[in-house]
Amino acid sequence: MKLAILSESPADEAALRVLVEAVVPGPVEFLRPAYRARGWPSVAQVLPAVIRHLHFNTDADGILVEVDADDSVVHTEQHERPDYFHPQCRICRLRAVMRQTVKRLPPIGGRARILRAVGVAVPAIEAWYLCGRDESVTEDAWIRGQATGNQPYSRAELKWRVYGTDRPTLEHEIACALREVARHRRDPRRLLNDFPGFAYLATDLRSWRPAAPDERNRAASSAGGVAPPRTPDAR
Ligand SMILES: [Zn+2]
Repeated sequence: MKLAILSESPADEAALRVLVEAVVPGPVEFLRPAYRARGWPSVAQVLPAVIRHLHFNTDADGILVEVDADDSVVHTEQHERPDYFHPQCRICRLRAVMRQTVKRLPPIGGRARILRAVGVAVPAIEAWYLCGRDESVTEDAWIRGQATGNQPYSRAELKWRVYGTDRPTLEHEIACALREVARHRRDPRRLLNDFPGFAYLATDLRSWRPAAPDERNRAASSAGGVAPPRTPDAR
């Protein structure tokens, strides 16, 4: 499958590529260059334009969006109920933006609709890096801290634990990120278990079934377009 990534930094993107390969069974091709927006709410603001671009100008099957939760409401099973939407939850917000954007796009040249994968790192992607190395760092610990007003760690502390500084250079940040996600690449189960914000992303990715060539042809015919020549099933 062909995947575009929208994230907050080149270091996040490097880590996400490894994490995607840890949870997706088949080969993954990453669309270059990746898309970037500096923090929330920029990611949500640029997302519709990125989706439209992917739909009209690329052959990407879908887009992966990942942001830090910061102090926002954490997405839980309760939010998974049909028609539930929490305005302060970033997973709920990003899913809604994608749903509304994709709905308005016309079929074009046999183009399947852009699939979505949304992940939120609680409270920041450094927590994913520390998972399995630092027992105290879990999504659950953060949620308990939010409920009691007594946070188990700050985002700056997580950076210190990963990078040895809260102002790493980009090179150092990427090197540390890749070192930590190599552990999850070998076995992602701990990360899937301790960080539901990652597990939702993995579930989205694993549910993707990129349109087979004959489906694309059918979609093109029904859209009144000219069907592309039949190609052997690439999968
Ligand atoms: Zn939610």
